Amino acid sequence: MKKRNVIVIGAGAAGLMAAGQAAKAGAKVILLEKMSRPGRKLRITGKGRCNLTNIAPVNDFICHFGPGGKFLRQAFARFFSEDLIDFLNSLGVKTKSERGGRVFPASEKAEEVVDALAAWVIRCGVELRGRTRVDSLVIENGKITGVTTSTIAPGSDWKKGVTLPVDTILIATGGASYPATGSTGDGYRLAEQAGHTIEPIRPALVPLETFGDVAAQLQGLSLRNVKVRLIIDEHPSASAFGEMLFTHFGLSGPVILSLSGQVVDALKEKRKVVVSIDLKPALDDNALNARLLRDFESHSNQKFKTVLNGLLPQKLIPVCISLVGIDADKPAHQITSVERKRLRLWLKDFQFEVAGHRTFDEAIITAGGVSTKEIDPRTMQSRLIQGLYLAGEVLDIDGDTGGYNLQAAFSTGWLAGRSVANSE
Ligand SMILES: Cc1cc2nc3c(=O)[nH]c(=O)nc-3n(C[C@H](O)[C@H](O)[C@H](O)COP(=O)(O)OP(=O)(O)OC[C@H]3O[C@@H](n4cnc5c(N)ncnc54)[C@H](O)[C@@H]3O)c2cc1C
Repeated sequence: MKKRNVIVIGAGAAGLMAAGQAAKAGAKVILLEKMSRPGRKLRITGKGRCNLTNIAPVNDFICHFGPGGKFLRQAFARFFSEDLIDFLNSLGVKTKSERGGRVFPASEKAEEVVDALAAWVIRCGVELRGRTRVDSLVIENGKITGVTTSTIAPGSDWKKGVTLPVDTILIATGGASYPATGSTGDGYRLAEQAGHTIEPIRPALVPLETFGDVAAQLQGLSLRNVKVRLIIDEHPSASAFGEMLFTHFGLSGPVILSLSGQVVDALKEKRKVVVSIDLKPALDDNALNARLLRDFESHSNQKFKTVLNGLLPQKLIPVCISLVGIDADKPAHQITSVERKRLRLWLKDFQFEVAGHRTFDEAIITAGGVSTKEIDPRTMQSRLIQGLYLAGEVLDIDGDTGGYNLQAAFSTGWLAGRSVANSE
C-alpha cells in the first residue's frame, strides 16, 4: 500500500506527538519547524520543570477548560494523562506527581522531555526540517495540495523556499503567546486562508497591572493560601484560592493567572475590575476578631508594628500600617475597637484596582483561535477542507495552569497524528 504523505507544521508539543504517531502508523511525515530547534516553548514550561499533565479524573480535567472543554472529550478518551505518562516512561522519561495532581518529569528538566520527543520522532522515521516556515497553504477545489515555505540560514533573512506538494497537512503552530519561542500566531492566518473562523484571540493566564504603587512596594512577595476575589463593576465575581505574587507592575502567580481570563474580558468591555485579597481565608469575621483580641492582649505593651509580626509577612507590615491608618508605635492595649475593625476588614479585603493586563509576550497561553465547531473532535480534521487537520493551542481551547494545556496539546496531537495516517 502507498504510504500517505503528511506535512506537520510546528514542532511543539502537539506537532512532535502528531508527527511521531503518524509515522508510527505508517505515514511518510515531514515536520516543518521555523525555529532552529524543536520545542522551544516546551523547554520553558513550568519554569523549566515542565508541568506535563495532571492526574485529575477526566471530568474534572475537562472542567479546567471552561465550556469549550467538551471538545476535548474524544481526544482524552483515546489518549489521556495515564497514557502520556506511560508513553514518556517508555521513552525513558520518569515522572512524578506533586501538590494539586501536577505531573513533572522526575528530573524536573523540561529539556529532558523535549530531547526524548525529538529523538523519538526521528526514530519513527519523521523528517524534521528546522528553520523552515510555512507561509501559506495551497488549496485546490476544497482540497489541500501543498504548502509554500521559506527558509532561513543562520545570520541571514528569510528566503522564499519551495512549494511542497502534499495532500495532508496538520497545523500545530500553537498560539500567539511568548512569540520569541516561535509561536507567533501563524496558524490563525493559515486556517483563515482555508476559510476557518478564528475566535478573537486574547492573552490568557496573564499577569495583571494595577493602579498605584502598592504592588511595586511588595515586589517579589509571594503569598500562599490566600483567597482572591474579582469584583467587576462593584459586583463580586469569580474567586480562587492558592498562591499569588506581587510584581513591579501588579499581580501574578497561579491564582491571579487563573482568574485573568475573566479580567481580560471585563477590561475589554471597559468594566471596572478590582482584585480583593483575603489574607486570612480560614477565619471568618468573628474568628479573626477573637484572634486579634488574643494577639493584642497577650502582647499588650508591644507596639502595633511588632504585634503584626505574628500576623503578616515582614514585607506587608509597612503597607498594612499605612493602609489601615494605625500608628505603628501605638501599644497594642491602646488600639481601639474601631481601629481593630479597620485592620480586620483590610485583612479580609486587601484591594487593588486593575489598570490592565500584560501582553501576549507574557501570557502563558492564547484564548480564542480556530473555532472548534469547524473541527471534527473524533479526528481533529477540518470540516471545511479535505486533508487539513489542526491540533494544540491553535484551536479555540485554553485551560488553567496545572498541566492541562500540555495534555490538551499532546492528546489532540496524538489523535490528529493517528487520524492523518489512517485517513482515506
Ligand atoms: C512560559 C510558559 C510556561 C508554560 N508552562 C506550562 C506548563 O508547565 N504546563 C502546561 O500544561 N502548559 C504550559 N504552558 C502552555 C503550553 O506550553 C502550550 O499550551 C503548549 O506548548 C501548546 O503546544 P502546541 O504544540 O500547540 O504549540 P507550541 O508548543 O507553541 O508549538 C508550536 C510550534 O510551531 C512552530 N511554528 C509556528 N508557526 C510556524 C510556521 N509558520 N512554520 C513552521 N513552524 C511554525 C513554533 O515555532 C513552535 O515550535 C506554558 C506556556 C508558557 C509560555
